[in-house]
Amino acid sequence: MYRGRFAPSPTGELHAGSLVAALASYLDARAHQGEWWVRMEDIDGPRCVPGADQTILQQLQRCGLQWDGDIAYQSLERHKAAVYSGTCRNGLQGKSARAWRFNVQAWSAKRGSPWVQWTDRRLGAQTQNVLDEVGDFVLKRADGLWAYQLAVVVDDSAQGISHVVRGQDLTDNTARQIMLQEALGLPQPVYLHTPLVLGANGEKLSKQNGAKAIVLSTETAVCQAMNQAAAALGLDTRSAPLNSLAERPSVVAIWTAQWAQREATKIAA
Ligand code: GLU
Repeated sequence: MYRGRFAPSPTGELHAGSLVAALASYLDARAHQGEWWVRMEDIDGPRCVPGADQTILQQLQRCGLQWDGDIAYQSLERHKAAVYSGTCRNGLQGKSARAWRFNVQAWSAKRGSPWVQWTDRRLGAQTQNVLDEVGDFVLKRADGLWAYQLAVVVDDSAQGISHVVRGQDLTDNTARQIMLQEALGLPQPVYLHTPLVLGANGEKLSKQNGAKAIVLSTETAVCQAMNQAAAALGLDTRSAPLNSLAERPSVVAIWTAQWAQREATKIAA
């Protein structure tokens, strides 16, 4: 059973790079006759922008990317039982507040090696020495918020996610997440990291460096954004361009078929 997901952080609207990750995870799920879920990664409350979740969902719908099931909210649905009371937020008995860290040295000793090896469907064999290249990493921040690394691993497992398709900027996190899965006895999903979309200045598009939200106000704009995202994934948008909103289902079906026919490892870098 294939279950994939798109897991945006509602810190702003989708930009061209996040649309590529959304489209890739959607097409991969559909090509496997699988489910495609959307999870709002709003665990880092202070970084979230009110209303951005609704805007992202509208953007996905405008692009014809319809999800399965209910939208999961990381903050609400998965960590209710563990909502932090705030006891140690300002330090306990005069000591300053401390983060919880994953003891990479101890876990490496237990599993026999600090090296994590895994295979990305597009990038191939990956290896990282988590002890030397990363070191201990935060599971819960000193301000009481659960860190992304732990939240994503727990939620992917709780939701039964079998395949993770996400942007290449997250590749470097995967070894840490695999270590956490091992330590918690959780299954390891299959990973595919999609090509980065570079801005005109050659820098990767991200909200941090001011990537603009995709414009979807007109029919032409939607088609253009979708064609660009599909082209970034190496799909043949010349023979199957999206030219109107009415064509969304049929063109996305053609792209899904193209995706299915092709080995994911042949996605253009
Ligand atoms: N929420 C993360 C982001 O928007 C993605 C997490 C993931 O796909 O693992 O960058």
